[in-house]
Amino acid sequence: MDSLNPWGSSQVKDYERMRREFGIDPMPRVLEGNLMSERSLIMGQRDFNRVEIAMENGEKFAAMTGLMPSGQMHLGSKAVIDQMIYFQSRGAQIHIAVADLESLATREISLEKGREIALENFLLNYIAMGLKPCNFYFQSSNTYVQKLAFVVSREVTLSEMKGIYGFVDSKRMLELNSPLVQVADILSPQIYDEPMPTIVPVGADQDPHIRLTRDISGRMNMIKVTRKDGKFQFSIGGQGDVKEYVKIIKKIVKTHGLRILKENLAYRTIDTTEEGVNLDAIELHLARDERVLNNYSTIPPSSIILRLETGLHGGKMSKSVPESTVSLNDNPVDVSKKIKKALTGGRESVEEQKKLGGNPYICPVFELYLYHLSRTDKHIREVEETCKSGARLCGNCKSEAAELMSTYLVELKEKRESSRHLIPEYLGNENGMH
Ligand code: SF4
Repeated sequence: MDSLNPWGSSQVKDYERMRREFGIDPMPRVLEGNLMSERSLIMGQRDFNRVEIAMENGEKFAAMTGLMPSGQMHLGSKAVIDQMIYFQSRGAQIHIAVADLESLATREISLEKGREIALENFLLNYIAMGLKPCNFYFQSSNTYVQKLAFVVSREVTLSEMKGIYGFVDSKRMLELNSPLVQVADILSPQIYDEPMPTIVPVGADQDPHIRLTRDISGRMNMIKVTRKDGKFQFSIGGQGDVKEYVKIIKKIVKTHGLRILKENLAYRTIDTTEEGVNLDAIELHLARDERVLNNYSTIPPSSIILRLETGLHGGKMSKSVPESTVSLNDNPVDVSKKIKKALTGGRESVEEQKKLGGNPYICPVFELYLYHLSRTDKHIREVEETCKSGARLCGNCKSEAAELMSTYLVELKEKRESSRHLIPEYLGNENGMH
């Protein structure tokens, strides 16, 4: 991939290639009631089945995201919060980390200022959008996550960090440290509480964090299980006594009605039948039972990976390019002006557009409708079809988008003002986890 990472401004050119290159699976099915899923704006997933099973069975699961308090919340971040709200409605415990240490270190934003930005520009918008009370915490005051970041750092080497993030030797240690704090954020719900499915909705540029976290999660478990040639193989890591780990494996074998085929304790492995038993269920069970011997056992977090919204002037929508970005706290008049200056998929002239039609699939204005403005399929289909047929002209189309966006921003502002008194309900336990 072309240097796609959380800090750059590159847009993904080929999602299919990205899926192949990084082993991302397609969504197994459309999530009903989830607009981004219904419109194919979720480009892929990792281990989503764990979350789906938890949602279907009403079992405990978590959803995790973070924010960097360094500016305004824009539409790209809104897409992630839309997903968090969806998973909260499906029963997820919600955890949101404020990366205020990172904004202090990288942008010289004081912790006080970072706190103000996080509450005013982000949390108030989340509440106005419909997020219910959750665990909203600041990395600077969460000593639990800080310690965990130190622990997880033992599981990764410098060369792996370079491989995942494309770091060069001149990078500051801070830039290596920040992803490790994020790994700690993502694993913390499981380590603080107990192993459970955890969904992390991310933009495609954040996928490196998920890959790193999943690798580290696997390494922190002593017992691993794989399915191969019609059997399960349990293997015990480390060099020490295996006795207690063998007890855990045997208990799981019994609970799931499996039979032991071969016990090779010199090689620290036990092979069993698999008899159609779900591997995910075994992994979850193992990670939970291992907890009596290992404080850091987890299952790998799952993710859904969102297509990145294009900025109004191309590239990815990012707060570092304000003229190309719509922020939720922007003045509606300014936003209308920005939208009217946006790139489009239109033709050179009105005549040509009427004759040949426009191309909505390369148009950032169409993306505004697709991600945020069209609340019904009927409306989005109408925009798409009238664009392609030439019945819709870009000027009118932008005016409609600007009006819809202004209405949305005005309503959101009103809700922000009436939500301010609710903030304390989200800051229940700032020094740790709920
Ligand atoms: S008509 Fe609308 S959707 Fe089509 S290219 Fe122009 S701005 Fe984009």
